[in-house]
Amino acid sequence: MMELENLIDGRRCKAASGHLFEKRAPATGELLARVPASTVEDVDRAVNAAHTALRQGPWASAGGAARGRWLHRLADLIERDRDALTMLLAQEQGRPSIEMRMMDVPMSVDVLRYFAGWADKLEGRTVPTDGFMGRPTLNYTRRTPIGVAAQIVPWNAPLMIAVWKLAPALAAGCTVVIKPSEDAPLAVARLGELVVEAGIPNGVVNIVHGVGAQVGPPLVAHPLVSKVSFTGSTEVGRAIACEAAKTFKRVTLELGGKAAQIVFADADLEQVIPGLLLGMFVNQGQTCAAGSRALVHRSLADAVETRLAEAARTMRVGPPTDSSSQMGALISERHLERVRAHIDAAIAEGAIKLTGDEPVPPHGWYMRPTVLGGVHPGMRIAREEVFGPVGMVIPFDTEDEAIRLANDTPYGLSASLWTQNIGTAHRVAERLEVGAVAINCWSPLDARLPWGGIKQSGIGRDLSRAALDSYLEEKVVTAAL
Ligand code: NAD
Repeated sequence: MMELENLIDGRRCKAASGHLFEKRAPATGELLARVPASTVEDVDRAVNAAHTALRQGPWASAGGAARGRWLHRLADLIERDRDALTMLLAQEQGRPSIEMRMMDVPMSVDVLRYFAGWADKLEGRTVPTDGFMGRPTLNYTRRTPIGVAAQIVPWNAPLMIAVWKLAPALAAGCTVVIKPSEDAPLAVARLGELVVEAGIPNGVVNIVHGVGAQVGPPLVAHPLVSKVSFTGSTEVGRAIACEAAKTFKRVTLELGGKAAQIVFADADLEQVIPGLLLGMFVNQGQTCAAGSRALVHRSLADAVETRLAEAARTMRVGPPTDSSSQMGALISERHLERVRAHIDAAIAEGAIKLTGDEPVPPHGWYMRPTVLGGVHPGMRIAREEVFGPVGMVIPFDTEDEAIRLANDTPYGLSASLWTQNIGTAHRVAERLEVGAVAINCWSPLDARLPWGGIKQSGIGRDLSRAALDSYLEEKVVTAAL
């Protein structure tokens, strides 16, 4: 059992209140860690430390090349500790270790290196004009760090999403206060230790643990915070946008989703079934891009539903640290109850459970991959984000109908489509109201590609040059000659 601490101004410290809360292992229910229950006082100290590091000291005077070297050093340390980080994530999330080994840990390294490369390339522009009041002018722009960034992280990919936020902010020269999720604080705490080991100056990265409702609001409201980057639920994102508006803070909001996976009549089912399974059940369906709604051409709908249910029935649900497990446990008992309630509501509306009642390991918050039959587009299960291992097949007849069904949700994060026809693929990709479309695959993420949603899936983008730009202001300088 560990006792975690905050990281403020390069030093590990307890919450000012002295209070702790418990973090339990999803796969066993055992106590994993006691975590500081921080409050406004800790937030204020962390923001002040970040603000001081921004204005004076080694970070403030460092050039972009030095910032890049620090980011590379942090990437080196994550690479060195990849096995331990993989196991820590598996333990705290209940998620199969293979997913972290293949995705979260290597992607964290890649994202750090990608943004390290940008750190010394923050070039401004020279802009010719007709001059000012009869005098010629020299006009140029400078890219300056936006200031202190508050970065609020969810539990479903805690290390990777913390790095998605940290890396562009540091490349831009900002300083940060990270608030990890109370449901997955361990790997982010370890990241803080690696930040110190990498020699990143004190106060540049601060980590304040705590319950969302206690730490989040004072962090978002703090007058010395210039930007809030949040990944989490649409409900909390809305509250953050309202609070941030009061002081005109910049916001990046990566929120919920209800992705469709559209299967056209000419799709290759050998590709489609594993693709649908991945989209529905990776990370126990606890991903914002979860492709829970398979919209399938009526000619294939029965075959796809049968094969999907068969494949789901044979998936290995087991301990996250066992390399043969394909699915682990859900993050918490509360979340398991929430997902069960969505299924019960769907059944009350007429859905049928085709799979999901097979046995699960005796301890922990496990749930079998569940495929529902008889789902109609108007049912709540087809419209609301479940964030659990629940999939469904909904038939369609025409391309227009598929697009209408896919877009008929308040969310707009991502979608997949499966077809052999290049014309169909690009025509439909154009008309889907989402931030990311995957053709003949599900949700490929890459440091170089922007990630984020439209509609109620959020504002702004993580990853890519777009994320870097969101941590920079463009200042214009005009000299009358
Ligand atoms: P959540 O909104 O409950 O919590 C996210 C973070 O916000 C946590 O750190 C939490 O402590 C904090 N928080 C809670 N209340 C707060 C408040 N009032 N003010 C400020 N911060 C507060 O979300 P979650 O359950 O951790 O994550 C699941 C959600 O995240 C899903 O809706 C999922 O779709 C979304 N998500 C989106 C993306 C994306 O890239 N779009 C990626 C991952 C997860």
